[in-house]
Amino acid sequence: MSFKYSFLRVVIRDFISLFYPDFCLGCSNHLIKGETMICTRCMLLMAQTDYHVRRDNPLHRRLVGRLPVEWALSLFVFTKNGRIQKVLHALKYKNEPEVGVTLGKVYGKRLSETGIHFDLIIPVPLHDGKLRRRGYNQSAKFGEGLAHAMGIPMRENALCRKVMTDTQTKKSKLKRWENVNDVFAVREPQGLNGAHVLLVDDVITTGATIEACGVVLLEQGVSAISVASIAVA
Ligand SMILES: [Zn+2]
Repeated sequence: MSFKYSFLRVVIRDFISLFYPDFCLGCSNHLIKGETMICTRCMLLMAQTDYHVRRDNPLHRRLVGRLPVEWALSLFVFTKNGRIQKVLHALKYKNEPEVGVTLGKVYGKRLSETGIHFDLIIPVPLHDGKLRRRGYNQSAKFGEGLAHAMGIPMRENALCRKVMTDTQTKKSKLKRWENVNDVFAVREPQGLNGAHVLLVDDVITTGATIEACGVVLLEQGVSAISVASIAVA
């Protein structure tokens, strides 16, 4: 691209943004040049974890004994009514899939720098009906960014969700487990045997969904499972 052309592109983009400004999904302030979806201030203020350098972390301890997990990773810690809740709400309900990709790229770059390796990424699947209505799987969008930054493939259709589950927010831990048990199945088994899989979800709360997906993958012969989420509650 010539200098003249790229300069013109910047001028046109800045001109357009006068009329269609981009707003931060965390705080609703204007984004400045170089910021994507979330402003620098929000990225600094949202509580990021150090789980990528601390294998024995609270999320790992939550899952241990239920699912053999190599790495339990999360970019942020979820805070109610905080910026991260706004960002996740936009990703899931306000047709902002690209923020998932953006956060995936941020975290994927960080994971690559620590030298952790996975063979492939599998997102927690949505039920087909829900996927059609929403138009995208928010966990797969996060996985897409991770896959891009880490240079590994994502297999979006490796798992499927067989039944539409009710909203899980008000159920007890045991009820949640009953709810997700037998909900997931392998749809595309190719390449899973012997692979170290990074299972990704937008938010991890009790870990029941991750556990149910992980059990299905282990039965399919994957060699190891790690998990990563945008936020851990
Ligand atoms: Zn912001």
